[in-house]
Amino acid sequence: MTTKKTRSETKKKLAKDVYTLADLKDWRDVDPPIRLGVFGDPVEHSLSPQIQNAALKHCKIEMQYARFHILPHELREAIELIRKLEFIGVNLTIPHKIAAPGLLDSSDDDVKRIGTANVVKREDGRLRGFNTDGRGFARAVREEFSVDLRDLRVLVLGAGGAARAIALQCAKENSERLVIANRSLEKAQKLADELRDFFAGPKVLGPVARLQAVPLEEAAIRFQIANVDLIINATPVGLNRGDPSPIPARLLAPHLMIYDTIYSAERTPLVSAALEAGARAINGLSMLLHQGALAFEIWFQREAPIDVMRKALL
Ligand code: NAP
Repeated sequence: MTTKKTRSETKKKLAKDVYTLADLKDWRDVDPPIRLGVFGDPVEHSLSPQIQNAALKHCKIEMQYARFHILPHELREAIELIRKLEFIGVNLTIPHKIAAPGLLDSSDDDVKRIGTANVVKREDGRLRGFNTDGRGFARAVREEFSVDLRDLRVLVLGAGGAARAIALQCAKENSERLVIANRSLEKAQKLADELRDFFAGPKVLGPVARLQAVPLEEAAIRFQIANVDLIINATPVGLNRGDPSPIPARLLAPHLMIYDTIYSAERTPLVSAALEAGARAINGLSMLLHQGALAFEIWFQREAPIDVMRKALL
């Protein structure tokens, strides 16, 4: 008994904070075995292990979730290795979400529309990609503001991966109105064009268009403010110390709900400005939590222990 315990403790000590491709190539498992993880570059900051390991432990699933520092040119090999090592799946974070779909055997409809995957699942030896950002965002908005996207007039800042997932979710949930504001207007325009069919139906709205692409500039945003309820920051502006708010504080008004997808322990500049203006505002931790819970549900086909995961995150 003692010998067994000592051996298992030694094995546990071998578990690393961050694994690499070299580790995957010469895989030495630990106890409980690592069968899930997150691939990223950088990846040290990822909060996913703390959420997923809490869920695994709570559900008495004898496996661990680890961080993997995988460089862009290593992604193909790393994905083949998790197939061989019979992982349940992995999460993908920056910069792998875009390249991954092209390296997998199949993808769900959201991945095809958004162009990025953040979850991979091994099913009968085949690797399938999913994107849980949009659905995670919808659950987060419901939880934080007690509203459904279908009731809202939405302004999304950004037109990258996160913005595409959020905009598609708003379209699928039949949001009252969607405005996409981006630094490069042509990217916002392209996204709006892709979603046009969803907004073809009649809705009573007054003089403003149901679907619009605008530049991320003060004059354009000022014009929109009175005709939106929810503003989402899906740009990285606010991530670094000293960053400004992605839209000027003077534009914010008390009727607004603000969702900043950036997750940080401190208030982001946008959240601070919004609260000061008397609006409701929250950062992206709840989206991170819910996209993680959805990943767990995809991997294990069972409900995620959301309260346990939330507690681990906070
Ligand atoms: P991405 O694909 O690189 O897109 C970035 C977007 O931000 C683009 O539209 C880009 O505009 C815009 N942008 C970048 N720098 C800007 C600047 N200085 N001023 C104005 N616009 C700027 O990135 P992403 O993967 O969508 O991630 C965006 C944010 O979402 C990140 O902060 C990430 O942390 C967050 N996120 C959060 C969660 C969560 O669970 N909470 C999940 C996913 C992502 P251009 O097109 O003009 O370059």
